[in-house]
Formats: sequence, C-alpha cells, structure tokens
Amino acid sequence: MEQSRVDFKKIRRVVVKIGSHTICNDQGLANDRLRALAGQVDLLRRRGMEVVLVSSGAVAAGKKKMKSFAMEPITLKKKQALAAIGQVSLMSAWSKALAAHDLKVAQILLTADDLADRHRFIHAKNTLFTLLEMNDVIPIINENDTVALEELKFGDNDTLASLVASLAEADIFVNLTDLDGLYETDPRKDANAVLIKYVEKVSQTVISKAGNVGGSTMGTGGMRTKVRAAGRLAERGMPSIIANGLTRDILPRLMEGEELGTFFKPSAKPRGARKHWLAFAARPKGKLLVDQGAAKALQEQGKSLLPKGIKDLEGDFVAGDAVTIVESSSGGALGVGLVNYPSVEVRHIMGRGSKEIQDILGFCHSEEVIHRDNLVIFDKVAEV
Ligand code: GLU
Repeated sequence: MEQSRVDFKKIRRVVVKIGSHTICNDQGLANDRLRALAGQVDLLRRRGMEVVLVSSGAVAAGKKKMKSFAMEPITLKKKQALAAIGQVSLMSAWSKALAAHDLKVAQILLTADDLADRHRFIHAKNTLFTLLEMNDVIPIINENDTVALEELKFGDNDTLASLVASLAEADIFVNLTDLDGLYETDPRKDANAVLIKYVEKVSQTVISKAGNVGGSTMGTGGMRTKVRAAGRLAERGMPSIIANGLTRDILPRLMEGEELGTFFKPSAKPRGARKHWLAFAARPKGKLLVDQGAAKALQEQGKSLLPKGIKDLEGDFVAGDAVTIVESSSGGALGVGLVNYPSVEVRHIMGRGSKEIQDILGFCHSEEVIHRDNLVIFDKVAEV
C-alpha cells in the first residue's frame, strides 16, 4: 500500500499544538524547551511557512507558581484560578523565547462557546488571518479556562487545536506530545510497543489502540483525544502528525518529510469548512428524533430531513439553530443540522407530509425541516 505523506514543499501554514508535558517539567515551565521550540518555529518561518501555536501549560505553570497553596482536592475552580495565574507566565515565557528571533506573540484565548457561535467563529478567524498578515507575529492560542464552565469546556487542547487548524485553514496539523506517536500497544506498559507510522483512516481499531495512553497529570488530553482530533481533521481533508515535542528539531525535520511520529492521511472526500464547523464546533440547541426510514434516507441516500420522518423533538430552538438528529428507537446520534423551522412549528408539522405544511402553518418557506446542504451525517467511528 502506498503510504507516502504529503508534499511538504507545498505546506504554507502549520498549526502546532504543544502539550503541557512538552514544555513543562517538574519545576514548571521548562525555558530550555520553549527556547528550542521557538528556534524551530523561526526556522519554519524562514522557510516561508506561517505558524500558529496552540499551547497548553497554563494550569501546570500556575500550579508550580503557587507551590505553597493547598492543591488537593483540585477542583475546577482551583484549576481555573491556576490557569489565570499560569497563562501570564506561559505567554511571558513564549514572548521571551520568540523575541530572541525577533518574533512577537499574540494571545488568543477561546472558549467552546466562542467557536460554536458562527459570528464569533468568523471574527476569530478574521483576527487570526490579520495577525498572520503582520508577518512577524506568532499567534498563540489556549482555551480561556478561567471563564469556561465545565459543561461548555473543550476540555482538552487537542479538540480546541483541531478546530483552530480548521479555522486557520492550515495545510497540516502537528500535535506535539511526550510520546513518539500512536503505538500498537501502550508504550508505558510494553517495552516492545511498535510505533504506528501511518494511519489510513481513524477506524474503531485505531481508536482502541489509543486506549487511555498518555492521559497526563499536567494536561487533560490523552492519546484518544489526539487520535480523535486527527480523525476529525482527516475528514476535513487535512493531514495530521502526532509526534514527540522533545525530539531534537522535530518541526523542521517533519517539514522536510522525515518520517517521524504517526501520520494521519487526509480523506479523499473532505468535508467543507462550514460543515466541519457544524459537525464539531456548533452547539446543538435541541434534538429531532427520527424514524428508521428517515435515518436510512439521511445515512445512505444523502437526503434532506422532511417533517414526515420526525417522531418527536426535545429542546427549544429557533430557525437557523443547530440540532442533533437522533434515531428514535436506538437513541443513536446520526448527525447535526441547521433547522428551517423553530421547535414550536416543528411540533405542528412533524409526522406530516411536506405538502401539508402550508395548510398547517399557513405558510411554507421550505419543504424540508433540514436541507441536506445544512446537514452533517456523522462518521460514527471517528466520534467514538
Ligand atoms: N488549557 C489547559 C492549560 O493551558 C490545558 C488543557 C490540555 O492539557 O489539553 O493548562
């Protein structure tokens, strides 16, 4: 099987996620590691690439700074407070490391809510693009841990970084961690674990290999969230590499095509930017429960969702909101779509033929409750 990576000469924009373990040690932020990475970022810039960093490390840095503070039990509130303290140290360390190469930093803190809102998503994108045009600025993104509520958190920077890579329209996503990549078995338990160099598609088998490897004490992600992030980006048509941020000159070596880490092949039939946003960033306001016939039409024939196939609904939503589509008998989520009618109107027309909409509501601006252009059917495997 042909397993070549991409044509690295064509890479113009790289999003690099840097995990807490990559830039922190037991003493907190490891300035030597930051300096080494800053040098590599500079090298990529000199080779004509734009670099966006997604950097973890705020909570870890905050913890070290507040040594005398009683950490246990470590509650969400404490973590948020530590992130507020540590974010300052994190940015000041990056600022210093990159200034040595005459590069400036720009801090962007995002919550899941910011990216769920299409307008804010576009604003964030415009700001990012403006920063990149400024040429000597490296945008550094982290989750705005201090304000994010638990249920609204990305939770891990792998998920955040995959959305940022899509938002930034990157040519490649590099996820730097403290392991060499994804292994066949857990390398922390199995000394003979074999590194997987190439992933054709993020299947159930691939996800099971990620297991719970690398769930860390400093950050929150593990290999599973990294593989899931790579799978999501593959669907977007973007290649990803999970590699070891502690390996010497990892970024330039990867960009020269050296086969380090685990490479994830992009899908040949990518999902567009807007549908990627709908699938992974939009926050559904309710649920539409559909019958098996409708589920089949959506999953197998790429049809729109008509009122006829809807059996029930949950939540209050207005026209234009995102909702999850659920198969009513199994309860399984099939996908996400933007509705043409608000929940009050869907209640009246569900189970009825599209031709009846006019009589029931007194108007009919669309025969579908969700048009297929505004619909994403999940690739279940990638979302396990
Ligand atoms: N945002 C967190 C921090 O800066 C890290 C989350 C993660 O490790 O994925 O500490």
